[in-house]
Amino acid sequence: MHVTYLPMSWKSGDNYCYLLTDEESNQSWLIDPAYPSDILDFLTKKNKTEVASIVNTHHHYDHAGGNGQLLSTLYKSVPVIAGKDCPYVSYTPSDEEVILLGKNVEITALHTPCHTQDSICYYAKDKKTGEKCVFTGDTLFTAGCGRFFEGTAEQMKSSLEKLLSLPEETVTYPGHEYTASDAKFAKTVFGSNNQALNELEEFAKKHEFTTGCFTLKDEKAFNPFVRLTDPFVVRATGKKDPVEAMGKLRAMKDIF
Ligand SMILES: [Zn+2]
Repeated sequence: MHVTYLPMSWKSGDNYCYLLTDEESNQSWLIDPAYPSDILDFLTKKNKTEVASIVNTHHHYDHAGGNGQLLSTLYKSVPVIAGKDCPYVSYTPSDEEVILLGKNVEITALHTPCHTQDSICYYAKDKKTGEKCVFTGDTLFTAGCGRFFEGTAEQMKSSLEKLLSLPEETVTYPGHEYTASDAKFAKTVFGSNNQALNELEEFAKKHEFTTGCFTLKDEKAFNPFVRLTDPFVVRATGKKDPVEAMGKLRAMKDIF
């Protein structure tokens, strides 16, 4: 399988659209194409693949806001696979439902409510090559997580645990490029005691686009939101209970 990242609304929303392609059939999923004008050139000129589905990670405008325009122009008979609250949704997969893309890419829908109640992450595995990746929308960011707009700390904790239970070599593709600021916040928690985080901070300084460069194993090392019992997280939040630590961490990040 192949993943192309397409930056959209750059320097304001720093959003990512993704094209996930099964190389054998050349069929693709177009994930979160929120700003069609930013990606039209790629989709019409440089891209020879067949878009089998438009897919959304959640209903927010900066992820699902392009569905209508794309359905009325480029992709008139393409289904929209997305959560229940997304515009123009034609199919909502159930939790852990597996959908085949092309010949070899098996995609598991993982319901991860909290940022929104309709948040779905998509775990893709190539049956032939064994490659694995996950599209995490606004649930998991590199070294961070999304705001709790429609859910609770408990929900975010279990949603992140669900993602972190996937194979640790799984490559992550978040919905936004927030790595530099998330690393900066994580540093206030860990100080300079977390080697993986120090390396991430250096990496983010040198690279404008960090999506697809890290794995779930990396998240386990440097993301405070998945290290709730880490002594540094307990100290920074003053909370020994992991759910309370999650809530406090997010509250601290909200005003960071
Ligand atoms: Zn969102």
